[in-house]
Amino acid sequence: MPTQTTCGVYGCNRAAWCRFASGIHATEIRCRRHALVYGPVCGRAITVALVVGTILVAINQGDVLLSGHLTALVVAKIGLTYLVPFSVSTYSALAANRLPAR
Ligand SMILES: [Zn+2]
Repeated sequence: MPTQTTCGVYGCNRAAWCRFASGIHATEIRCRRHALVYGPVCGRAITVALVVGTILVAINQGDVLLSGHLTALVVAKIGLTYLVPFSVSTYSALAANRLPAR
């Protein structure tokens, strides 16, 4: 059980919020802000967003894309379609690694 109470990023003194496994026995403690930009979490969220977002765009906007009637509204919907799996993946990773309240 980690006893570290502040963020492990150099120069950051915010309260610890998440604990990520970074090796067999190593962990990284991050504050809320630095947990959001933690590389492995962001990388996985981007991968999930690209895969799931592309499938959802094909399902929901495939007919519009194939017909060539692309509008600003459809482009906005496509952007939001990619944002949803990115947000879900990020939230899930942070919730699963969140430290218990002190
Ligand atoms: Zn921090």
